[in-house]
Amino acid sequence: MSNRILVTGASVAGNLTAWWLARYGFEVTVVERTPEFRNGGQNIDVREIGREVLRRMGLEQAALGKGTGEEGTAWVDEQGNELAKFITEDLGQDGPTAEMEILRGDLARLLYEPASALSEFRFGDHVRDIDDSAESAKVMFASGKTENYDAVIIAEGVGSSTRELVFPNENIPRFMDLTIAYFTIPRQVDDDSMWRWYNAPGGRSISLRPDAHGTTRAMLSIQQPPEGEQWWDVEQQKAYLRNRFADAGWQAERVLAGMEDTKDFYFDVLRQVQMDRWSKGRVILTGDAAWCATPLAGIGATLAVVGAYVLASEIKLNSSHMEQAAAAYEEAMRPMVKQGQGVPKFAPRIMNPHSKLGINLLHGILNVASKPAIRNLTAKLFASEPKGPDLSRYERLMNTAAV
Ligand SMILES: Cc1cc2nc3c(=O)[nH]c(=O)nc-3n(C[C@H](O)[C@H](O)[C@H](O)COP(=O)(O)OP(=O)(O)OC[C@H]3O[C@@H](n4cnc5c(N)ncnc54)[C@H](O)[C@@H]3O)c2cc1C
Repeated sequence: MSNRILVTGASVAGNLTAWWLARYGFEVTVVERTPEFRNGGQNIDVREIGREVLRRMGLEQAALGKGTGEEGTAWVDEQGNELAKFITEDLGQDGPTAEMEILRGDLARLLYEPASALSEFRFGDHVRDIDDSAESAKVMFASGKTENYDAVIIAEGVGSSTRELVFPNENIPRFMDLTIAYFTIPRQVDDDSMWRWYNAPGGRSISLRPDAHGTTRAMLSIQQPPEGEQWWDVEQQKAYLRNRFADAGWQAERVLAGMEDTKDFYFDVLRQVQMDRWSKGRVILTGDAAWCATPLAGIGATLAVVGAYVLASEIKLNSSHMEQAAAAYEEAMRPMVKQGQGVPKFAPRIMNPHSKLGINLLHGILNVASKPAIRNLTAKLFASEPKGPDLSRYERLMNTAAV
């Protein structure tokens, strides 16, 4: 029986894995690189099968209660006039805005609070080395501690350093040619409950989204091939965005001013993580560290929630055979991940046109697509969910998940 498990990364995938493993009776330690719980991020959607996992944890209603209040999505012109609009309630299903829209930080915290009551969380530390043997995985931490575990689960997100340590050069990233920044800015009286999206020439977009914290979530993006911008320091990234968006129009000036003082600046060049395997001996990858699909897929949080649950449950079912557990987990999750990563590379180009003509064309198409006669069909394109694994296999384990 494997007992001691280390999870690295205290966000959606890590916290959820820790919660289930602890409920199944394992002794769990979570190590997170940042010095304290990491807030921040914008709306992430949890759809169908992901909601089923939250339901099994008794957290679905709490997650809905922490919703951002976003009611739909509108594309606007330079003066803020709406050119196309999708209201979630009219669609009778999830559209660009899902029914369960929750801030990344709020979902991670919703999972962190009960998980931290059941497991040990250590902030401000990370794995420096792992010596994996038949008996155990010996883990050396940056803090100087050395400990043995029966399994190590890496849930460190897209740029995971422990993944690179254990699986050097195995990730062949698929760059999606979109540079993106998310941050929180002060709310303004005319910010309402819509996600407002503005396209500026040069493949640039600005969007503003409501939250339930009295602030506004801003996004800046540029459609372009990456040039290593993710490695720059924050000041260089901000200077770059200031320069690129200075003449973008609409609310660019306000958003750039808000960016200066924001407390949760997040910047990345979007890239999928593509790994031929998700485990090696006692070390197993999950969430974005294993298969990041990028926000373009709209499925990253659902994949993280479902994958973490499947992994914890397979470890419970195969607790004396970690490699068997990892193989069953991979077999269950691969098809969903493969579909989730199927976003074509031209998608960011279509949604972020470079010329004025391209922008007018996009808005014209969205305007037609938002008409009552076809909007339900269009919504399916924004919200199509890959088929997930069969979770009925784990139902009987619910009885063993001690409170
Ligand atoms: C601050 C932040 C903001 C985000 N904002 C958005 C957003 O607005 N929209 C969106 O669609 N997606 C966003 N994401 C990504 C989104 O959270 C994921 O796609 C999805 O929820 C899967 O989560 P995950 O737990 O696998 O990875 P992540 O949410 O990326 O979490 C990884 C965690 O691991 C920690 N970590 C990293 N390296 C190490 C290490 N070596 N040792 C220990 N811990 C480590 C990180 O600090 C982080 O807490 C954001 C992620 C972060 C971290």
